[in-house]
Amino acid sequence: MSATEYEAVPAVDADAEAPHVGTVVMKFGGTSVGDPDKLRRVASRLVAAREEGHRVVGVLSAMGRTTDELLDLAHHVSPTPHPRELDMLVSVGERISCALAAMAIHDLGHEAISLTGSQAGIVTDTVHGKAKIVEVRARRIHEALDEGTIVLVAGFQGVSTAFEVTTLGRGGSDTTAVALAAALGADFCEIYTDVLGVYSADPRLVPDARRLTHVSFDEMLEMASSGAGVLATRSIEVARSHNVRLHVRSSFEEGDGTWIQEEDAVSPEKPVLEKALISGVVHQREETVYRVDGAKPAQLFGALAHASVNVDTIVQTNAEIVFSAPVEDKPDAARTLDDLGVSWSARDDLGKVSLVGAGMKSHPGVAAKTFATLEAAGIEAAIVSTSPIKIACHVPSADVDNAVKALHEAFELG
Ligand code: ADP
Ligand code: ASP
Ligand code: MG
Repeated sequence: MSATEYEAVPAVDADAEAPHVGTVVMKFGGTSVGDPDKLRRVASRLVAAREEGHRVVGVLSAMGRTTDELLDLAHHVSPTPHPRELDMLVSVGERISCALAAMAIHDLGHEAISLTGSQAGIVTDTVHGKAKIVEVRARRIHEALDEGTIVLVAGFQGVSTAFEVTTLGRGGSDTTAVALAAALGADFCEIYTDVLGVYSADPRLVPDARRLTHVSFDEMLEMASSGAGVLATRSIEVARSHNVRLHVRSSFEEGDGTWIQEEDAVSPEKPVLEKALISGVVHQREETVYRVDGAKPAQLFGALAHASVNVDTIVQTNAEIVFSAPVEDKPDAARTLDDLGVSWSARDDLGKVSLVGAGMKSHPGVAAKTFATLEAAGIEAAIVSTSPIKIACHVPSADVDNAVKALHEAFELG
């Protein structure tokens, strides 16, 4: 058995009014706002969109490595920081970017206002550190946009139904942007980042990786949840549910990036024949793999879900259950397993390499070629799991990079 779990869909259009044609949501990642010059460049880009007549919402990440530095700082002060206080701390990074960008826009002669997630009406559940958006109350943004003001929303954060500041998990500004695009009835959502788009593999690992012009929501969801860090998984889930087209593109260069949209919209004239067999090889260098004995699956996975552990692959044989989950979920998973009183162990030496492609559905032989390629490279897969458009192999962390390169070459993706 193999399962990929996705989170529930937020009611982002709960109080959305009629769609406002001409609204654009432009999200800029950490590198794109990394220093004062880059922030001024972002300000110019937002102003240019405004001058073209759009209603402009900018969603910004924290500058450069700010989030990592804040997390480090917290752990220097306390080994186990309180989750509420951690959210109070790390949500500050995005506020800094937005306030600075607003100042830069003022200097360009335009109106701009920065808003925290809470001020922007991003309402979440109460899970600190990985909250889910449950609603977007966009009235204040609409009012500002109606006045011609450029609105800067601090990404990655919201206010919980218990009135606490929450954050959405690493990469969460993507989710903020897409949820706002859905709630505001924007035509599409632009994700500006430090690469030209979504590639057939991480371009930092595989230099000849190819930029993909179009990717379907389903493929991108598999790619992101399997480790392609360019988009947060949750953001694609929201985009698919609300049919918000995404355009991933470069902050530093002009030109088209990668469009992410419904599969049929990708190539309407030749829907199936044109489909790439494999779109990409994605990886994560670490994923904790648990082995549990003598637990009832319903009780086990119910308890893990309750603890917000994002379970990925599940394999069950007789009384033994093996499952994987993100490294950062390990404290929650360990506590849950201890509380259940089951006997368990965990491996920290595995990563995962996944082949993703919509064409896989109709082409046999992908699994055979995957195994042959890994074998030729001397790499042994500990666990293999599949979905109709994905084959995922857990391999030793030390072999992950070689596995990606070998598979990328074997499937001629460069
Ligand atoms: P941002 O700060 O803009 O959110 P991220 O670091 O979150 O940027 O995401 C961009 C990075 O994602 C790229 O620099 C790239 O190394 C990485 N990445 C991983 N896999 C892919 C892929 N398949 N295509 C493009 N980028 C990828
Ligand atoms: N600043 C947050 C992070 O580094 C959120 C984001 O950039 O999307 O994870
Ligand atoms: Mg990101």
